[in-house]
Amino acid sequence: MTVLPIVTVGDPVLRERAREVTAEELRSDAVQRLIDDLIETKRAANGAGLAANQVGETLRVAVVEVEPGNPRYPYKPPIPLCVMVNPVLEPVGDETAEINEGCLSVPGLRGTVDRHVTVRVRYLDRDGAEHEEVRRGLTAGTFQHEVDHLDGVLFLDRVRDPASFSTWEQFDRHHREAFEARARALVARVGS
Ligand code: ZN
Repeated sequence: MTVLPIVTVGDPVLRERAREVTAEELRSDAVQRLIDDLIETKRAANGAGLAANQVGETLRVAVVEVEPGNPRYPYKPPIPLCVMVNPVLEPVGDETAEINEGCLSVPGLRGTVDRHVTVRVRYLDRDGAEHEEVRRGLTAGTFQHEVDHLDGVLFLDRVRDPASFSTWEQFDRHHREAFEARARALVARVGS
């Protein structure tokens, strides 16, 4: 496994729609190695997820994992490692919530976006087995963020109020307490 450099905003690869992975490609050493490297790179950066575009590959592969005590996102409920290949995501119901997000490809900046509170996600795992799951709350937001990457969309695009942008330092100083209280209330109400 290799920790890869993470591409940052401005690189055109983050604006490309990643393409579907074929069954044959998924079995290949190259794609299996890419999955290993995505996991390793995400963990090294303390991210909640990482999509292939973020390491310069335009294949529909993303990983999501929040380890207990994640220092970037201490308020997020833990998410066991989930490797998604060709994920398809659809909202369940029309409720949305304002979630303050950051992104490893947008260093130093956070902003508030609207996310669907409940989503159904279908994907293949790294062995090609089909999965269908319902994800809720902050966890649903994390899945939406990663699938957005595969469509060339960044959280920046979804920020409705530019006044919500802040550096991580100013978020800690002025906004973290209120956001964490809302985030905990959301998780308590809808789960993950
Ligand atoms: Zn991101």
